[in-house]
This record gives sequence, C-alpha cells and structure tokens, in this order.
Amino acid sequence: MHPNIPMTLQKVMTATRASSDVLFTLSNLNIIRNLVFVVFLLRLARKSFYTVRGHGVVGTISNVYHKVQLLLYSLFLRSPGVRGQVDKQVSSAISKLETKLAPQGPGTIKYNSLPKQGWTAEQVRAELDKLSGMEHTMWEDGRVSGAVYHGGDDLLKLQTAAWGQFAVANPIHPDVFPGVRKMEAEVVAMVLALFNAPKGGAGVTTSGGTESILMACLSARQKAYAERGVTEPEMIIPNTAHAAFNKASQYFGIKLHSVPCPGPKHTIHIPSVRRLINPNTILLVGSAPNFPHGIVDDIPALSRLAVSYKIPLHVDCCLGSFVIAFLKKAGYASPYEEQGGFDFRLPGVTSISIDTHKYGFAPKGNSVVLYRNRTLRSYQYFILPEWSGGVYASPSIAGSRPGALIAGCWASLMAIGESGYKDSCHQIVGAAKKFEASIREDPVLSRDLKVVGEPMVSVVAFAATTAEIDIYDIADAMSAKGWHLNALQNPPAMHVAFTIPTANAVDKLTTDLVEVVELERAKADERRRLGQKVEKERGDTSALYGVAGSIPDKSIVSRLAEGFLDTLYLS
Ligand SMILES: *Cc1c(COP(=O)(O)O)cnc(C)c1O
Repeated sequence: MHPNIPMTLQKVMTATRASSDVLFTLSNLNIIRNLVFVVFLLRLARKSFYTVRGHGVVGTISNVYHKVQLLLYSLFLRSPGVRGQVDKQVSSAISKLETKLAPQGPGTIKYNSLPKQGWTAEQVRAELDKLSGMEHTMWEDGRVSGAVYHGGDDLLKLQTAAWGQFAVANPIHPDVFPGVRKMEAEVVAMVLALFNAPKGGAGVTTSGGTESILMACLSARQKAYAERGVTEPEMIIPNTAHAAFNKASQYFGIKLHSVPCPGPKHTIHIPSVRRLINPNTILLVGSAPNFPHGIVDDIPALSRLAVSYKIPLHVDCCLGSFVIAFLKKAGYASPYEEQGGFDFRLPGVTSISIDTHKYGFAPKGNSVVLYRNRTLRSYQYFILPEWSGGVYASPSIAGSRPGALIAGCWASLMAIGESGYKDSCHQIVGAAKKFEASIREDPVLSRDLKVVGEPMVSVVAFAATTAEIDIYDIADAMSAKGWHLNALQNPPAMHVAFTIPTANAVDKLTTDLVEVVELERAKADERRRLGQKVEKERGDTSALYGVAGSIPDKSIVSRLAEGFLDTLYLS
C-alpha cells in the first residue's frame, strides 16, 4: 500500500467530517431559524386572535381605518401651507392663556430671586394676604364645580392646628414620629371599615387619588408578573374612567383597553370586557362613580368576571369617597345594594381607591388605597436591601412624606365622625338630586337639556337634546355669569360636582342655568329663522372642544395643553 494513502484518507476523512460538521451546524441553524419563525408566527396569530376577539371583526377594521385616517390628518396638518397657519393660531391661543393665568401687568412685583435680607414675619404675612386675595373664580360662593371640598371654617382651624403640630413630621421615621405612624394606621383602618373590608384587609395612605390608582395598577402588574409570569400586561377600563389609569398605563407599560359605556345607562359594557380578557389581562376596573357623569359602573357584574377569570378588580371610589360610603346610612339608595353593593362585600373586588381629600374633607394631598389582603399591598412596596445608604423600604411612590397631612386627615375624620359624614352626604346628594330633578322637570331645561344616565352620588352631567343647542355655548355663558362648571367630551356634555359650597348655591345655579338656556334657545330660533347663515360667536370652551375637538388629530390640542402647563411656571 502506498504509504501516503492512509494519510490522504485520514485527511479526506477529517475534511469530510469537518464539512459535515459545518453542514450539520448549518442545518441546525436552519431548524432554529425556522423554529424562531414559527414561534413568531404563533405569537402574531395569538395576538391577532385576541385583538379580533376583543374588538370584533368590524371593530378591528374600524380601528385600522381610524389609524390610517389619523395618519393622513397629521400629514395634512404638517403640510407646508397648513403648518404655518396652525403654528400662528396655537401661539396666539397660548399668549391669550398667559395673559389670563399669569398676568404680567405693570403693578405686579416679581420675586424671582431670594431677598438679600430675609423678610420679617409681618412682611411675609402681608404678602400672603395679597396672594390669597388675588382675583379668582369665587369658590367661596359655591360657583366652582368640585375642586374645593370645604368642610367648614371650624374644621379648617382644627386642621391648621394639627398641621402646625406635625409640620416637621415624616412617617419614613416611625421611631422619631410614632404619633404619625399611629394616625396613618388608624386612617387606613377607619376607611377599611367604611368599605367593608374583610379581616386581613390592608391599605396605605397616598398623596392623592392619582397615586392611589397608580399603586393599585402597579400592584396588579407585579402580582401578574410574580404569580403568572405576565410580561406584556394589559388592563381593561371603562372609557369614562379617570385619566390616572391612562397615566398608570404610560408610566408602568401596561396596555390599556378602554371599553365604551353605551346609553341609556352609560355603564361599562360588560360583554366587551369579557371579550377583551386574555392571558395578559392583569386588572379590570370600574368606577363608583366616574368623574364625567357621576355614574356607578356595574361593579357586581365586573366582580363576577373577576372571580371567574381570577383577575384582580379595582373599584375607583376616589370621587365617591365618603359620600358613596354613607348613602345607605343617610337614607338614599346605595348602588347595587341588592346585588352586594360596590365594595369589598363583592368577592371579586381586590382593591379600592378613596380620596379622603374629597368628601372626607381632609386637607389636599390625602387619599387611601385599600387591598383585600396584605399580599396584594406588598406588591406595591419598594424594597432595596442592598442600597449603599442602608436597607431601604418605602410603601409607595414618595420617600419622605408629609406627616402634617396625615395629622390633618386624622383630625378631620375624628372631628367629623359618622354623624358629620351622614349630614354632609344629605347636603351634597340632596342638592345633586334637586338639580337633577330641575333638568328633568323644568320646562325650559327639560326641553333642551337631558341628564346623562342615572347619577347616584354627587355629580350630575347633562347634554343638549338637539344639535341646535351647543352645550359648550352654555358652558361659556355660565362662565360669563361667574360659574366654573366642567366641560366634558366624547360625547359633548357638562357636569356639576356638588360640594358643600355648591350645594348651598344650587337654587342660584338652577335659575342662572334657566336664564342661559332660554337665551341660547332664542339665539338658536333666530339662527333657524335666518337659515343658519349667521356665523355664531365662539367662547373659550366652544373653541377648544367645538373647533379643535372636531379635528381627529389631537396634536393641536396637545400643544395647547403643553402651553398651558408651561404657563403655570411663568414667573
Ligand atoms: C378625583 C378623582 C380621582 C383622583 O384624582 P386626584 O386629583 O389625583 O385626587 C380619581 N378618580 C376619580 C373618579 C376622581 O374624580
């Protein structure tokens, strides 16, 4: 045998093996690539399946159509000729806003740097008097819807004293401020009892309703991640839910499904919620009541869904707070009483947000979020065991928190008590019902206005019955009479949120509204007589919601809103 043959053979064999290795690796890669592709296809199919099941075929097509329409519109607004026009209008609207909110008249003295020498207490007090006396919308006469949840002058004095006593207190140091720790725990316990929490119920106080809602959404997200490995969380809310849920969705990366609330009841459409539930759903939401219309969603039906799909359910009682909790005790119908109510008595309800700074009459900066059990609460905790500053743990968004506000809240709850909250429920709901009855029964009001749904608590929303009357013109005419009511959109409407000051002014509110509607009716008749040829004058609300609001692309409204926020910091 040629001595070289084995060598050659070996070489050939080695080469073959190497190439077969390569081939093997290549085919391996192919398999992996195909697998990845199949997984991608499966995920896409799954996503499409849940999208189509959630929105229906027609709904999905109309969503796509809407997106294309938006795209075309935003291209149009950015086209050369149009763009300059839009920019000019936006700037002029913003400068109007600045003159109104931050007047820069020759009489205004600005303090944009520290005084070289600190002021005397008298100087500071004199300036504070001027600041609190600046010309403003008169909430004191009850002319502002919502906004000021005043519990009376005596309470205000007591709160101020409580505040002063705990001005330096910070619950992050419970050993330094044991009284604040005790008060916070007691505020939570009192509110848990009001909302019928079971044994083991838990909660925390927060800086306001938005933080309470953010925390409830965070807890649900963390729970789904920890217990089910959900990494693409989704939540389902009524489209009348508070904007804080959209904020939670943006802050915490939770996909939001906003479900319609069709008439005549205007509560969340339960079959739509059921269709949208999928393995990524981390939270269902209902309002009791919602901000726009004061309507309580069908919480018992949501609770049944929550139980059968084993998904948490948050009930937003931020606004309802101590009024909804006292309806029954004050002798009014309480929502869904025969079906178990709207709170922890329903087995599916896992968390509730309650604003003590609304109808609890606590100082602003107070709210509570409650959970059915401590495990749910612990999902909102923030714990950093390895921090260089020491083991760190805080219950919510803030680190340091104002102990003074907790003292103010505790003092309010104790001073008002069950008797006081029953009385305030009477005053507020009594006024709301009186106002609602006027809209339904007064000959002038009932002809051109209709109540939205069946409000049960403190808010009454109304819309125009015909297109002849523009509800935003009514809002503007009421503004001219010194009323600050809330304009709503999708659909156009306005509302009054009754507080103790507005409850005292309900008769004046009704007579002013009658006058305004009569006048708008006369103008509408005149327009009809002249054949709609007259261009009507537009007020601020009408311009914002009527003109800007009719454009599908919201970038102009967003720019105005951004300008508004900037105006707040104009010094
Ligand atoms: C007021 C309100 C909230 C929370 O608002 P904050 O201004 O953050 O206190 C949440 N939901 C509803 C229905 C509300 O009316």
